[in-house]
Amino acid sequence: MRQSVLIVAMLAAGVLSACSSTAPNQTAGQDVGHQVLSANDGWAAEGTGTTGGAKASAGNVFTVSSRKELVAALTKAGSAPKIIYVKGTINLATDDSGRELFEKDFADPAYSFEAYKKAYDPTVWNRQTLIKGKPPAVSGALEDARERSSANQKKVILINVPSNTTLVGLGKDAKIVKGNLMLPKGVDNIIIRNIAFEDAFDYFPTWDAGDSYSTKRTEPVIEADGVNYTIPGCQEKFESDDKGPHRCNGGRWNSEYDSISVKGATHVWIDHCSFSDGERLDKMFPPVFAAPYNQPSQKVQHHDGAVDVTDGSDFVTLSFNKFFNHDKTNLIGGSDGMTTDAGKLNVTFHHNFFEHVKQRQPRVRYGKVHVYNNLYAGSRAWEQKYPFSESIGLGKEAKVLSQNNAYELDADVTADQLPKLFTAGAAMVDSGTLLNGKLVDIVAVFNAKNAKQQISTNIGWAPKLTPSADVPAYVKANAGPGKL
Ligand code: CA
Ligand code: CA
Repeated sequence: MRQSVLIVAMLAAGVLSACSSTAPNQTAGQDVGHQVLSANDGWAAEGTGTTGGAKASAGNVFTVSSRKELVAALTKAGSAPKIIYVKGTINLATDDSGRELFEKDFADPAYSFEAYKKAYDPTVWNRQTLIKGKPPAVSGALEDARERSSANQKKVILINVPSNTTLVGLGKDAKIVKGNLMLPKGVDNIIIRNIAFEDAFDYFPTWDAGDSYSTKRTEPVIEADGVNYTIPGCQEKFESDDKGPHRCNGGRWNSEYDSISVKGATHVWIDHCSFSDGERLDKMFPPVFAAPYNQPSQKVQHHDGAVDVTDGSDFVTLSFNKFFNHDKTNLIGGSDGMTTDAGKLNVTFHHNFFEHVKQRQPRVRYGKVHVYNNLYAGSRAWEQKYPFSESIGLGKEAKVLSQNNAYELDADVTADQLPKLFTAGAAMVDSGTLLNGKLVDIVAVFNAKNAKQQISTNIGWAPKLTPSADVPAYVKANAGPGKL
């Protein structure tokens, strides 16, 4: 079975990479814009499959090189099949004249980051009564002003993509930067290929006072940089400047934008793209509050996911993408409480290159997620400050099948440190993983080291493959140039 997964995958891989490396958009048959996802190429091939805008009429084929042109093409075609070629760089944080918009252009008159920081400094804000063990969410005039500012930015940089769209980069330098493509509920059949996505930057991150906050922490906090933060005086009830909930660790700056948010959409294929923070690296935005709120994880985070798949999305394949210089790479399932995600969020990751990304590669709730033939490379001591933390995060009702992935990490990283178990009952089966050249079963090693928190190996599904009996006819009909 595993052998046949590999053979079918390698076959698909060979066909795709041969076409795109020799002549990205002019193959012997159809150009890349007209290509569709191959049968059985991951979850996006399920049911009706993923054809994007392949059936576009001549009037619905566009070449765009600005935000204005992209929006005009999407609006003109609506949900009709459309092929949109991206030429050069599209900066989504621009007005219709092409002028780039910055924080000052979006900010509400009542907002400033300095004032916001002052209003919600946790050494002040956290002195109030905790709710369910956490400080209340920030509120008041400054938070309202931040929300208005955020809405101003969102109106410009968030672009809704309607059904039946193929968005494909021309040549080798197509980019979409400083914005967020949104694939919402009801949208189906999207192909996005050959585009470098960079820097979905949120100028107005929120201070989420309760995120990762706990008064229960008894042991020192040791962060990726090895610094040991002890927190004296942390307790639930406010007593004095030195004792109270304002002395406890926790709280995070959180941002809103992913380069691509699959937020309810179905049949999505994202292929041969790259995702990174571009020139605005997280290390440029260090923590702004005093101890104990100055851990590396409390940096002012201006980015969210690279590609996040949430809110009942289903049938998504991510193949041959490169993810680099980013923290929270792929969130599959946004919260435990979204029980309607059960049975959905089925996603395939294959032949992706995760290089110098910190976490969520992917982090899974609910979904049946196939992760195979991916390369993970990075270091905990990396100078660009995206230290490797863990690869596959296992949250509520995750059902992950990990096969034949390769890891190139620091020599002292052990197999049990690759997965992270967030929620009891999460399941994963692993086989064929190579960690620095050694064959390991990351689930078996994790379970051997963590007697009290076991990863279940009951995933209850298997990937769908072309039946062997159909392989001769299918391969003869589809392999080689001119068959796309
Ligand atoms: Ca709010
Ligand atoms: Ca997100």
